[in-house]
Amino acid sequence: RRQEEEQSLKALEQAVDAFDPTKAESFTDFPLSAPTQRGLKKASYTTPTDIQSRSLTHSLRGRDVLGAARTGSGKTLAFLLPILELLWRRRWGPQDGLGALIISPTRELAMQIFDVLRAVGQYHSFSAGLVIGGKNVRDEQERLQRMNILVATPGRLLQHMDQTAGFDADHLQVLVLDEADRILDMGFARTLNAIVAHLPKSRQTLLFSATQTQSVKDLARLSLKDPEYVSVREEG
Ligand code: ADP
Ligand code: MG
Repeated sequence: RRQEEEQSLKALEQAVDAFDPTKAESFTDFPLSAPTQRGLKKASYTTPTDIQSRSLTHSLRGRDVLGAARTGSGKTLAFLLPILELLWRRRWGPQDGLGALIISPTRELAMQIFDVLRAVGQYHSFSAGLVIGGKNVRDEQERLQRMNILVATPGRLLQHMDQTAGFDADHLQVLVLDEADRILDMGFARTLNAIVAHLPKSRQTLLFSATQTQSVKDLARLSLKDPEYVSVREEG
């Protein structure tokens, strides 16, 4: 059984290396693990959107991505899928702690991301939690220690990083900055910098934004390494 798992992981890694996005149409053509494929099917996602297919090509290979595409273009799955895949391929488990961190500008958006994660990740066994304030800090703290994937708003996350003994991001694999333009518009630039300073330098970072402003480019320069730029323009 163990050997079978090793072989299927090897096959998946080879499929990622050999992946030719020009020949991929539906999600089933993409090199994604069996639990992710099941989750996509169950949630009725069949065909990737432009931003999804064009960014997955790079993000599944571990590259940093700066993705720009309008609201409603499907950016959520463009970062959730690489998170699930990277943790799966690294055999991330309960003992490994925090593997992925998603920063979102508002509580409402964070909750939406969490719902999509629960749907598409339902056949994975990673633990996931929200850090968005409005709840008892203590409750949040306790759950924080055990999470593999966190969806957080910037202010509350920094509060925990400063205050929670045992909040440990030392082994973080992936950082996502979602709706980066909005995060910056809301005045969170310094908070973000302080958060990023708490995180390990060797990690994958995915930054998504509806617009590419100068401040988004500045943030990208500080938080991404040799990123692949993926920009989807409006039609017509
Ligand atoms: P954005 O973050 O770019 O504003 P979302 O990730 O919130 O976009 O997605 C917008 C809508 O499109 C959601 O209702 C989502 O369920 C739907 N959606 C995303 N990806 C797909 C897909 N591959 N196929 C069908 N619908 C999708
Ligand atoms: Mg979004």
